[in-house]
Amino acid sequence: MAKAAPETARISPDARERYEPVIGLEVHAQLRTQSKIFCGCSTRFGDPPNTNVCEVCLGLPGTLPVLNRRALEMAIRAALALHCTVQERSRFARKNYFYPDLPKGYQISMYELPLAEHGWLDIEFDGGKKHIGITRVHLEEDAAKAMHEGFPDSAEKTYIDYNRCGTPLIEIVSEPDLRTSAEAYAYLTTLKQVLLYTGVSDCNMEEGSLRCDANVSVRRRGSDAFGTKVEVKNLNSFRYLARALEYEIERHIGILESGGRLEQETRLWNQAAGRTDSMRTKERAHDYRYFPEPDLLPVSVAPAWREEIARTMPELPAAKRDRLVRDYGITPSDAGVLTATSELASYFESVVRAGGPPKLTANWMQTELLRRLNDASKEINESLVAPDALADLLMRVESNQISAAIAKVVFLEMFNTGRSASEIVVEKGLRQITGPEEIDKYLLLSLLENYRQLEQIHGGKITTKKFFLGDVMKRTQRQANAVTIEEQLDRILDTYEAAKRTIDTRVDASPDDPVRVFITLYPEMWQISLSTGTSSSLISENKYAEPGTAPTTTGE
Ligand SMILES: [Zn+2]
Repeated sequence: MAKAAPETARISPDARERYEPVIGLEVHAQLRTQSKIFCGCSTRFGDPPNTNVCEVCLGLPGTLPVLNRRALEMAIRAALALHCTVQERSRFARKNYFYPDLPKGYQISMYELPLAEHGWLDIEFDGGKKHIGITRVHLEEDAAKAMHEGFPDSAEKTYIDYNRCGTPLIEIVSEPDLRTSAEAYAYLTTLKQVLLYTGVSDCNMEEGSLRCDANVSVRRRGSDAFGTKVEVKNLNSFRYLARALEYEIERHIGILESGGRLEQETRLWNQAAGRTDSMRTKERAHDYRYFPEPDLLPVSVAPAWREEIARTMPELPAAKRDRLVRDYGITPSDAGVLTATSELASYFESVVRAGGPPKLTANWMQTELLRRLNDASKEINESLVAPDALADLLMRVESNQISAAIAKVVFLEMFNTGRSASEIVVEKGLRQITGPEEIDKYLLLSLLENYRQLEQIHGGKITTKKFFLGDVMKRTQRQANAVTIEEQLDRILDTYEAAKRTIDTRVDASPDDPVRVFITLYPEMWQISLSTGTSSSLISENKYAEPGTAPTTTGE
């Protein structure tokens, strides 16, 4: 097969800068109901093909649809979460077209009178914030699933699973307020979060519970008019969405820059080829010949019912983020991570309620807990570390009972076995060494045995200090307090430097009998002294409360 010439050449940054992309998204989310929108068939995913079907969802003549109240309630929840006005009266319509996955020959959807309109969603990205208008939220039924590949005779046949036919969906249409693929990505992420928080959809993209189409056009910067719009379908993942939008934006600019004209059409994202392919050109939307669905009464939402649903709305992600920052003094960025799901946020709050220091908890959850959960492909509710167990561990860190380094070791054990911190600490004999004198003993031994590194620091290589920090940690099985090691190291180094300076000012120094600096570690004290072959003078000493090791001396 001849390789198709690419439709887009690389666009120069200058050309790119002259145009402004205009993007609107249409998101379909499957509602989390037990049964379908107009019949009692199960909506369960993964059942054997064509087992959850009946006369109604197969569109047999003489059957009548009945609206699922739960589906309507969930659509209202979504609409309220998106700040839409829920209409007291809305109406289903027939959208007529023929396709094998649509046995009735029409889809029941909402057209002129949608369930809800005029909403908005605030998105955050790259530190910025943007207000995105929501045009409408309406209810509709899903089509069946056509399978064009994966069977031995797929070349000749298409297989259809009608289980999905009649599954309740909401379509959420945004205003064309998005200007970059990054904004579109942020919008979809935020929208998914809201739908998950409100429990209206499981948003499982692999199972097709969340699907997205994009309307893209570009226009000259500064212009208010819209360019020719192209609809891109088949955006099955957030990553595909971003890539497809980038591709389309460049394609549009390329065509306009070379003097061409864009056609209003529907295109499919081809992930394997990394491009969009034309699917069909579409003159106008109304070739579907919409008309009011005669088999269903208009939908009426009484204000009292709407208010009742509003009262059961959970705290939404944006409000939760603000509250966590306000109540616990964590950063907006921490709050952003911790409110990614409502489960994660409630885990955080449970840890804090059980005594976990908020900032420490926020840090530990993001570094240790989430990293390990991610590595183990587990969700927060599968964590073997219960919130109060993490709180217990973090309180020990906060009160210096164990070092942060030891706590990480303990945490790993807790994560793998579900055992408590106290059990592990007792069993392994773990504690924190914070006493400066005890730290000194390990530190001086390290200095004595690593004289070359000590001299490197004296020579100006400050980074070698890390060597001693690491060495003392190793000598203490990571039980030493890192801050104390650093403080004591600085103190000893100051004395050592002072001793070295004293040598420079000694008038009695002679080449035959040079003055040298010695560090001596006695069982109960250490000293830094200046010595020549014949004399010695003490610079500094420190007495221990308890006996230490046998005397060791180093020097040059
Ligand atoms: Zn059915």
